Amino acid sequence: MENPERPEPAGGTLYVVSTPIGNLRDITLRALDILRSVDIIAAEDTRTTRVLLDAYNIDTECMSCHSRNENRRTHTILRMLEEGKSVAVVSDAGTPALSDPAGRLIAAAIDAGFPVIPIPGPSAALAALVASGFRMDRFRFEGFLPLKRKRRARLAELATETRTVILYESVHRLRKTLVELRQYLGPRRVSVSRELTKRHEETVRGSMDEVIEYFERNEPRGEFVIVIAPPAEKDTAPPDQE
Ligand code: SAM
Repeated sequence: MENPERPEPAGGTLYVVSTPIGNLRDITLRALDILRSVDIIAAEDTRTTRVLLDAYNIDTECMSCHSRNENRRTHTILRMLEEGKSVAVVSDAGTPALSDPAGRLIAAAIDAGFPVIPIPGPSAALAALVASGFRMDRFRFEGFLPLKRKRRARLAELATETRTVILYESVHRLRKTLVELRQYLGPRRVSVSRELTKRHEETVRGSMDEVIEYFERNEPRGEFVIVIAPPAEKDTAPPDQE
């Protein structure tokens, strides 16, 4: 098939490349082309990214760019873009900057006038949303709930939310968070997806109480996304028919 788009990668351009959230085959042909041909890849963890690159025989140079060095790395990467180099930024899994590093780099590159091109691909949030079956025409992505001070205020705010809500959660806090959500949001329907795209992928759907009970009986393992249905009764209406 002929590629109708402009030649890639272009010099002085930052590519924000989505990578698999588990299954290494979930990567686009274009993402592979970009990763193979840019001058350098800025990776959240170079060892994690190397596993992906090795699977596709890509030997592009990598440098680390994680939450602790992102400010410093941003300067380095802006200099590279100025020199006309092409740079791809990736996180460990999914779409960079979504509850992941790269947001500051992206904003700085835009401010400095460099083209920033997204290479779309997997994200656990959207995969879990479609697996929920809840209303998806409007939704709220919350990422991780704050751990301390602002947590209660955020939960109280979510109680008034009328759209479907997507939360990321770690294995250690899943049970506690579900109980808090039950307490603050009341008896909503909920869908919890774990290990999406991987061998032990599972989506548990039901009332808050049913799902809490399920995870009391079954030890949580892996990575989780919690999707909460809107409070309205018609929470699974076909999105584009209204
Ligand atoms: N940038 C990533 C994305 O686009 O999905 C998210 C990164 S965030 C640091 C990691 C969280 O995403 C995990 O704690 C979990 O909530 C969710 N996650 C990532 N991969 C997942 C998977 N395969 N199954 C379920 N949840 C996943």
